[in-house]
Amino acid sequence: MPIEPTVTVLAGPTAVGKGTVSTYIRDHYPQVWLSVSATTRAPRPGEVDGVHYFFVSDAEFDAMVTDHALLEWAIVHNSHRYGTPKHKVDEALAQGRSVLLEIDLQGAREIKRTLPSAQFVFLAPPSWDEMVARLVGRGTETPEQQRARLETAKVELAAQPEFDHTVINDRVERAAAELVELMGLPAQVRD
Ligand code: 5GP
Repeated sequence: MPIEPTVTVLAGPTAVGKGTVSTYIRDHYPQVWLSVSATTRAPRPGEVDGVHYFFVSDAEFDAMVTDHALLEWAIVHNSHRYGTPKHKVDEALAQGRSVLLEIDLQGAREIKRTLPSAQFVFLAPPSWDEMVARLVGRGTETPEQQRARLETAKVELAAQPEFDHTVINDRVERAAAELVELMGLPAQVRD
């Protein structure tokens, strides 16, 4: 029997490794359709437009909001806007693909209102100390930005009970496999 395509939302505190898990899934699990978000932030080194994000201007993002072209959107870390292009998700579902959205908590709550049939998965750190170490070790944020992100993370950790499932990001490969299984998809890896 074909698997009923579903929408799964992966959220969790900042710096828990959502990006690493979703990148691993994109590279190893072609059976998962990973949504590519639109963002107004600038690309980081190595990020490719249309693969990691659709990098758009403020005016382009405004137009998407006005046209109701986003399934959800949010201002993340009080700076840039991020949103999920709706028609791409609809197209993937129409093709029978199971969809994964890697978004922030505000976005997850928005999806809970607009698409309550979605499955909500919280990615949790093995420990608080581990999460701090990852954020500092990443080296992509200034100390001021790191402090702001940790403040956000504290609040975000408290949201865990709102989710259907929690996956502990102890090892990226294991966490990714657990997530794919929760999506009801075969969890064999493509190397
Ligand atoms: P980064 O700038 O580090 O790639 O992502 C920052 C945050 O934005 C992450 O927590 C990520 O989950 C979130 N994010 C990425 N895309 C979207 C989106 O389409 N909607 C929402 N609400 N958050 C997103």
